[in-house]
Amino acid sequence: MLSIDLAGRHALVLGVANHRSLAWAIAQKLHAAGATLCLTYAGERLRSGVEELAGTLPGTITLPMDVTDDTQIDAVAADLTARWGSLEVLVHGVAYANKEDLEGSFLATSRAGFQLALEVSAFSLLNVSQRMLPLLEKQGASIVSLTYLAAERAVPSYNVMGSAKAVLEQMTRQMAMELGPKGIRVNAVSAGPVNTLAARGIRGFTDKLKDAAEKAALKRNVSKDEVGSAAAFLLSDLASGITGEVLYVDAGYRMMA
Ligand code: NAP
Repeated sequence: MLSIDLAGRHALVLGVANHRSLAWAIAQKLHAAGATLCLTYAGERLRSGVEELAGTLPGTITLPMDVTDDTQIDAVAADLTARWGSLEVLVHGVAYANKEDLEGSFLATSRAGFQLALEVSAFSLLNVSQRMLPLLEKQGASIVSLTYLAAERAVPSYNVMGSAKAVLEQMTRQMAMELGPKGIRVNAVSAGPVNTLAARGIRGFTDKLKDAAEKAALKRNVSKDEVGSAAAFLLSDLASGITGEVLYVDAGYRMMA
């Protein structure tokens, strides 16, 4: 039987905030496929919730990692080096922009707001991968990040997050080219709208969900479970020939005229 087998693989998953997080949906699929997981959380505020979720996936560890703090990233790398010695899976499910930069005029985006959104939501993919490289290149690895259609379309209210996603997608290709010779694949999953904490920060998100379900070929929204499955596929050997790609998991929204 053909199935996703990640037995013996070590997976670092960034971006679990709660049970609604897309990173959590991916983590559950990776665990079901046999991977051993480390979930990171962005601050003390999230610690107990993430520990509680991790407790439902036996063998899963949790570590703090704010992606704007290189010391914390390096501490995770040191911990995983001592604990596992290699890393075969990296999931980037982190994004942030100031609330005022996700409403109103895009032209009003401040320098600081632009830098923060781009640092957390895009640069962190490159920075974390670079700092984890000695672990990732040990056995070869697969990296997946989460992106959105606003990378290539003008979407009301997404503003600076669309800029960050455009950079993230460009980085996917550039990193795939550079890391390919090391046996490291880099892809992104472009998810249709899913009701999560981050999504609720986008003004008019509920209308967007309704609109997407009406226009999508499948006449419904995508589930986080479906996003998790697609990511698990890309992270597995079933996708061994795929790198530098953006895979749309949007119930057939993007391709519609
Ligand atoms: P989410 O559950 O709110 O996840 C976003 C995560 O980013 C949270 O865990 C958040 O932690 C974390 N984060 C923010 N700043 C951070 C920092 N400095 N260091 C480390 N982590 C930080 O929402 P989500 O929708 O699942 O988002 C996951 C990814 O999917 C994002 O890249 C998002 O853009 C993408 N995406 C979402 C949708 C959708 O409709 N939901 C569609 C397409 C793509 P805090 O809670 O502490 O800030």
